[in-house]
Amino acid sequence: VRATRGGEEVRGYVPSMGQIFLRRFQLVTQFRQSLEDEQVSVHYQPKITLPNRQVQGVEALVRWVHPEFGRLGPDEFVPAIEAAGLIGVLTSFVLEASLRRARKWLDEGLRISVAVNLSVRNLADEDFPAKVARELERFDVPPELLTFELTESGVMSDPQKALPILRELHSLGIVLAVDDFGTGYSSLAYLRQLPVDQVKIDKSFVLGMGTDLGDLAVVRSIVELGHSLGLTVVAEGVEEDVARDQLEAMGCDVAQGYLISRPLPEDRLEAWLQARTARSPGRHSETVLTL
Ligand code: C2E
Ligand code: MG
Ligand code: MG
Ligand code: MG
Repeated sequence: VRATRGGEEVRGYVPSMGQIFLRRFQLVTQFRQSLEDEQVSVHYQPKITLPNRQVQGVEALVRWVHPEFGRLGPDEFVPAIEAAGLIGVLTSFVLEASLRRARKWLDEGLRISVAVNLSVRNLADEDFPAKVARELERFDVPPELLTFELTESGVMSDPQKALPILRELHSLGIVLAVDDFGTGYSSLAYLRQLPVDQVKIDKSFVLGMGTDLGDLAVVRSIVELGHSLGLTVVAEGVEEDVARDQLEAMGCDVAQGYLISRPLPEDRLEAWLQARTARSPGRHSETVLTL
């Protein structure tokens, strides 16, 4: 395939339907083994509070370094894993890694929350809340340090099934966030009926708000209405300091994006945190950022 992008010729390789099907099949059949072989790992992206810029938490984002296909982002394999009925395996893996990480921080005197993305299929598993409760107990992590992120379309696709599970998770004390807010069909009014604590403004609006007045208006109204419903408002996709400053001026509570940090593997996140943590001896450490 030939195409031009910016005057320069680009030669792309477009796989056939058969190749796409085969690849998905391989990913699904190899998934369990890839966990054991440590090809799959969890990266963490920090989130900071506004305006005081302290580390509020991290979001766990899964990565797969495949021996044949190379680095794969979640968008390339999570849908296939979901369709194959393996999302429970993935979620358990990410949850365990995240809680182990939170436990280590607690041992160092740091209260940093971890956010794990759920798929709608997790909410179809009636035993899911009990499994999560057992994991929290196993790692001795307080539930308020765990956040689950769900997309609005995920919750809306089968509210009858999803709602009781969400209520159960919420009653355990886990923080619930609606991810990619603004992209689905549900309205802010509908949010009132969900047991959620946070809205995450979709990055498309945050990325666009510097140049598009419509995006800016969407961001502003999500912040205002989110607050009027008593929710914490998080902005993802914060790439520029102008965006951070605008969000701060609007009263947005938390910012996440490449400006603050890209998602990092565990060791690099540790170094990132260490460089920004002021530790006062004998007292609980404060995570103070200079950004
Ligand atoms: P998400 O939960 O909305 O995560 C945010 C995505 O935006 C991540 O992409 C992150 O790397 C990216 N991002 C963060 N800051 C910026 C920024 O400043 N600019 C831009 N352009 N992008 C930014 P990623 O890691 O590729 O993940 C994509 C999606 O895959 C996630 O969207 C989430 O829905 C899903 N996902 C990731 N990990 C898991 C998981 O463990 N389980 C499930 N079920 N889904 C996952
Ligand atoms: Mg998310
Ligand atoms: Mg999102
Ligand atoms: Mg997303």
